[in-house]
Amino acid sequence: MLDLVDVGERSIESYRRSAGFHAVDAVREAAADLRGARVLEVNATPYGGGVSELLRSLVPLLNDLGLSADWRIISGDERFFQVTKAIHNGLQGDARDLTDADRAVYLEHAEACAAAFDEGYDFVVLHDPQPAALLSFRDKGSAKWIWRCHIDTSTPNPRVWRFMRPFLAPFDAAVFTMAQFVPPDLPVRRVEIVPPAIDPVSPKNLPLPEATAREILDWIGVPLRRPLVTQVARFDPWKDPMGVIAAARLAREDVPDLQLALVGAMALDDPQARDVYRQLRDATHDERWIHIFTNLQGVGNVEVNAFQTLSDVVVQKSLREGFGLVVSESLWKGTPVVAGRAGGIPLQMADGVGGFLIDGVEDCARAIVKLLRDPDLGRALGESGRARVRERFLIPRLVLNELALLRSLAAGRPVDHAAGHDPVCGMAVTGARPVELTVEGRTYRFCSERCRSIFDASPGRYLARR
Ligand code: UDP
Repeated sequence: MLDLVDVGERSIESYRRSAGFHAVDAVREAAADLRGARVLEVNATPYGGGVSELLRSLVPLLNDLGLSADWRIISGDERFFQVTKAIHNGLQGDARDLTDADRAVYLEHAEACAAAFDEGYDFVVLHDPQPAALLSFRDKGSAKWIWRCHIDTSTPNPRVWRFMRPFLAPFDAAVFTMAQFVPPDLPVRRVEIVPPAIDPVSPKNLPLPEATAREILDWIGVPLRRPLVTQVARFDPWKDPMGVIAAARLAREDVPDLQLALVGAMALDDPQARDVYRQLRDATHDERWIHIFTNLQGVGNVEVNAFQTLSDVVVQKSLREGFGLVVSESLWKGTPVVAGRAGGIPLQMADGVGGFLIDGVEDCARAIVKLLRDPDLGRALGESGRARVRERFLIPRLVLNELALLRSLAAGRPVDHAAGHDPVCGMAVTGARPVELTVEGRTYRFCSERCRSIFDASPGRYLARR
């Protein structure tokens, strides 16, 4: 039996104020004919990183809506997680190949997980590459199986992709964050595009009174007398923490009292984080203006909330990114963001909304200085970002997308995008005045002008997938 993660209870009703009455009603309606359906979500870690963040909110909400949902994790030792991190990196384009020994370790674990797998679910969602091969070592039973990919697989290392590809063939559906991430030779016929979302009522994202947030940061040793720039991210080379430090050093030439906080989680399935953490400590030991924190030192959700609420600028200098929940988390607090033009980040913000998209260290430093010198601009950008997150990246929309996929799989028909989903970003479109485009006699609805123009540039790409 795979380990169960206890997620407690949540009520969809508590989202009416933040996400809107209409969104909650739409979710209730979509769940009505799935009542009693048994859903299993499987990943590799109960904490640290975006997937565990999503499942902690999604699973109890599915239960509240009358489904019977479990979250289980596959177990693994250090060696297994070194291999799965190498696969993760390879799928994001890292040049390193897997050794024969790596492949053997991955397959042995997949076989062991398959043997430990519980029967009795109607839908099984396997998240990311860690558990993906499990289905190759057992039959599907009566369940529908979904592979949910959270990473940028648009330009994978071909050798790593060739190894992983056959394990995906038996899935009934695959879900990606962006259409650009879908590998052209994906062996799964049904593909959905669903971006993640944040939970606005979780301790990480609920409104924190300024005085409380200030006391929290004071207590952990980051006084707010000086301008504060923060990056919250797993310690991972793709998040480019060394690039953040380089940009902050440059920005200090213009803003000498700037302080930088790097807040990084150590996830159970990410052994690389320890090396990156040591490297950062070594590189900055005589620079007292740089603060480095980890979840292992007790910096948890409320502390992350305080950082995202009170930083003058949040940076997310990713080189590759699946989605980057931290961007929406920070914008939700009205804080401007300076972020790499990578993966799902431009979905959440664009120049003029939320902050600045940057390319490279100098660009990043310039954007930080601009925002520190002009707090009114920062506030205006933060507010526009918050509005975008409210419209598109709150968890009821994600629940709605997941329910739509389960319903369509149960009924054996494709999701009817024209009826209610933006075919580019996967978002449920519920507004009274939707953005529309008619192609070959059929009208499609979009969440924004941006998605409509992406669709308009190559409709075939999206229509082929339906
Ligand atoms: N996070 C955290 N503490 C940390 C670093 C990250 O709680 O020290 C959280 C962060 O707030 C976000 C998630 O981990 O909810 C990271 O998700 P994201 O999509 O940004 O990146 P991923 O780690 O999945 O690549």
